[in-house]
Amino acid sequence: MKYENISTVCPYCGTGCNFYLEIIDGEITGVIQNKTDVLSQGRLCIKGWNAAEFVNHPDRLTKPLIKKDGKFVEATWAEAVSLVASKFTEYIDKFGANSLGGLASAKVTNEENFVFQKFMRAVIGTNNVDHCARL
Ligand code: SF4
Repeated sequence: MKYENISTVCPYCGTGCNFYLEIIDGEITGVIQNKTDVLSQGRLCIKGWNAAEFVNHPDRLTKPLIKKDGKFVEATWAEAVSLVASKFTEYIDKFGANSLGGLASAKVTNEENFVFQKFMRAVIGTNNVDHCARL
């Protein structure tokens, strides 16, 4: 049996608590508090303590799905991105850029959020952009 623990950041909110993922034989098996983390000081909320549960959950989406004939079917990333781009273009042409809005995430880096808001403003052409950490 191979045992590891890997330091990581909680994916659930912008607080950014640190903890360790416990890994046995390559499978994430749980969360261990990090008592030296200056933010959490080893205390986690219920979401943090269960942050590893979604990783191997059978219902987790790992591939894009596109609705065809009323049912979701697996698609490639190229198909999904192409569909989204064509829908964005269609709605902008019909209703204007302000008919679209973007919601960013506290689960990604500041740099990724910067790129996202830049995309919404400079490419889509709208200031309709918001972020869950503002709540
Ligand atoms: S443990 Fe709770 S408070 Fe800390 S980052 Fe995760 S969700 Fe936020």
